[in-house]
Amino acid sequence: MKCFHSIRWRLQLWHGLVLVLVLTGFGFTAWQLQRTNQLSRVDRDLEQRMGIVTGMLHPPRNGVIQERPRPQGFSPANRPSFENPPEEPLNLRLPPRELNHFEGIPGQEFYYIVWLRDGRQGALSTSAPPDAPRPEWLRMPGPPTFRSRGTFRECFRYVPTGECALVGRDIHAELADIRRFAGLLFAAGGGVLLLGLVGGGWVASRSLRSIADISATAAKIATGDLTQRIHTADTDSELGQLAHDLNNTFARLQASFARQAQFTADASHELRTPVTVVLTQTQSALARERPADEYRESLAACQRAAQRMRGLIECLLTLARLDSTEAPAALEACDLNRIASEAVELLQPLAQEQGIALEVELASAPCLANAGQLAQVVSNLVSNAIHYNRLGGSVRVTVGCEADTALLSVCDTGEGIAPDDLPHIFERFYRVDKARSGAQGHSGLGLAITKAIVEAHGGTIEVTSEPRQGSVFKVRLPSAAAAQLQGDGKREQLK
Ligand code: ADP
Repeated sequence: MKCFHSIRWRLQLWHGLVLVLVLTGFGFTAWQLQRTNQLSRVDRDLEQRMGIVTGMLHPPRNGVIQERPRPQGFSPANRPSFENPPEEPLNLRLPPRELNHFEGIPGQEFYYIVWLRDGRQGALSTSAPPDAPRPEWLRMPGPPTFRSRGTFRECFRYVPTGECALVGRDIHAELADIRRFAGLLFAAGGGVLLLGLVGGGWVASRSLRSIADISATAAKIATGDLTQRIHTADTDSELGQLAHDLNNTFARLQASFARQAQFTADASHELRTPVTVVLTQTQSALARERPADEYRESLAACQRAAQRMRGLIECLLTLARLDSTEAPAALEACDLNRIASEAVELLQPLAQEQGIALEVELASAPCLANAGQLAQVVSNLVSNAIHYNRLGGSVRVTVGCEADTALLSVCDTGEGIAPDDLPHIFERFYRVDKARSGAQGHSGLGLAITKAIVEAHGGTIEVTSEPRQGSVFKVRLPSAAAAQLQGDGKREQLK
């Protein structure tokens, strides 16, 4: 019974059922029409002859009713009439002119029977079946009524004087015709059903082939081969659209897995350096007895490596947290102006140390944000601007409002970023000068974290840079009023 769970067989079954129903309906209607057509032709002939027979039942004006053969003991006194019904059934002969309508047509022998008011047969033609019963229903004068009796088709009528006239004919030839027609219909219907089932099966298997392709590709991807894609020639159909969407999903999955793998490799690589430092230092310290100064130096090197590892682990944790949640936790109304001024103040000593002039131009810029995370954004951008600056350069931090956004701009006069590197600087672990930055604790995660925080707040970050001229980083966040409206909108959607 497993086959009935398959879509193909279910489609086939329903298709077959519908086809059988349609063909049966069509065949029955055609058979009924043919039968009605045949019978109505016979009925027209019967009705025409009924007129002749009922004419016989009225008192003849010119005495055309003849009796043949005359029964024994016939006398004008007991001559059958409708007022004086005969004791015995009589074979009344119609005038030869009228008789032609009943006899002499090969294969079409019409007969008539007349029953008197008391139910006895009063007249019947020679070809009339002797056992024909008088119609017992609708015993009242009216228009001719028709009945089918075995292979006979009969028309009867009660006349106002109470007699019943019946005209009939053996219609076995017509019935055979109808049966032959039914047989033809059955054969043609069977042929059409067979063709329909074969055609339907072909169409179903053709349409479902795409599903089989999708299923096979998904199975290959499930085993780990993320390079597989569904081949769809028929991209206009619903299945083509589905395959297109699935291919996009597979591509995103592949890219995401690749990023994940790259991220893990980079993180391991970054962690390996400080771990190697710790191992080398401890190994050489433990190799032999050393003066206290050397131990102190080894311990200091281990401490620096541990701090570097801690910094890296904190960055990784921050990124993991930002990746796992859509919106930052603990949003509060805050002023970007205050956050920026505090962060800049903390970095002032570093700027002085590097000989960089740190200028600020701050105006109120209220926004709805996680103050700690925003401080990290300002700190990352300003420390980069100091770090990648030239000796005697300057950094300008500007905060203000622009339309519905709070704007932070960090502009430096540093070495700038080459156009080739510019699209990649927000990628995780991307460093323009790998040798230099890695050694100084710059792991290439600062801008990735900055971008993730800004986007989690519904903002944007952009950079413009001129090599040997400097770079400008601009962060735009929804202002407090806009963020409030956005939050209300999201809450409405959730309801
Ligand atoms: P890092 O921790 O190495 O600074 P970031 O993600 O903060 O990593 O920066 C990525 C890269 O972008 C850096 O390695 C640096 O080459 C470049 N970069 C970032 N900020 C600036 C800047 N203000 N001027 C020039 N280059 C910059």
